[in-house]
Amino acid sequence: GLAFDAVACSFSGKEVLRDITLSVEPGEVVSLLGQSGSGKTTMLRIAAGIERLSSGRVLINNKEVSSDTVFVPPEQRSVGLMFQDYALFPHLSILKNVMFGLNDLPAKASEIEARAALRRVGLEGYAEHFPHMLSGGQQQRVALARAIAPRPSILLMDEPFSGLDNRLRDRVRDETLAVLREIGATCIIVTHDPEEALRMSDRIVLLRNGKIVQYAKPEDLYYHPVDHWAARFFSDLN
Ligand code: ATP
Repeated sequence: GLAFDAVACSFSGKEVLRDITLSVEPGEVVSLLGQSGSGKTTMLRIAAGIERLSSGRVLINNKEVSSDTVFVPPEQRSVGLMFQDYALFPHLSILKNVMFGLNDLPAKASEIEARAALRRVGLEGYAEHFPHMLSGGQQQRVALARAIAPRPSILLMDEPFSGLDNRLRDRVRDETLAVLREIGATCIIVTHDPEEALRMSDRIVLLRNGKIVQYAKPEDLYYHPVDHWAARFFSDLN
């Protein structure tokens, strides 16, 4: 699992995260939900080890990875990252793209793991294709395969569906969630979309101005918002 313990983060004196405490259990899918600038991406970057915290601690599988005294670099944290733009290499085949995160393994083992990850997302027939030959939804699945191939302890996804058009998005969300459930992934998903958070998560972290407003199951957030602001956040939905 993943835990934040009283985490704060400031950039040149401006506090962007304050007193963030939460834990994500193994196998849980948790969304970080909030408006632009609420600190979602900064939380993800701190968990990944690509941003430093100002105070507090982060633990992965009960081991301290960020604190005043400890800093475990990203490649030693067993985190898988997936971004909105997928960041696929255009000059590499789908197989080579997925093998990229597996370069600690011998070539043959890396290829076996990469092919297994492609099978997992239903793209086993596309190993020798190049990214431009695939649809947006398929490219998203390649990015998912690349993120899960090294079997990370935690998957961190930053707005993973926002590059897709409305027609595709629901389907890709459902497919992604099915893969996450199959492998029992522990996953943090950043989103500004309340509907997406309600639909995908076991629990939701609702953020405002760098603080946690509420951390609860979707139905609790929806039916028992802690305050007027939280209620308004979901009120456009039906
Ligand atoms: P968005 O949905 O727009 O990405 P967000 O909720 O992910 O928003 P963050 O990207 O975490 O928010 O940003 C939170 C605040 O921290 C913003 O005010 C942003 O300008 C600021 N910020 C983020 N990274 C840095 C940085 N490296 N240096 C200075 N300020 C930063």
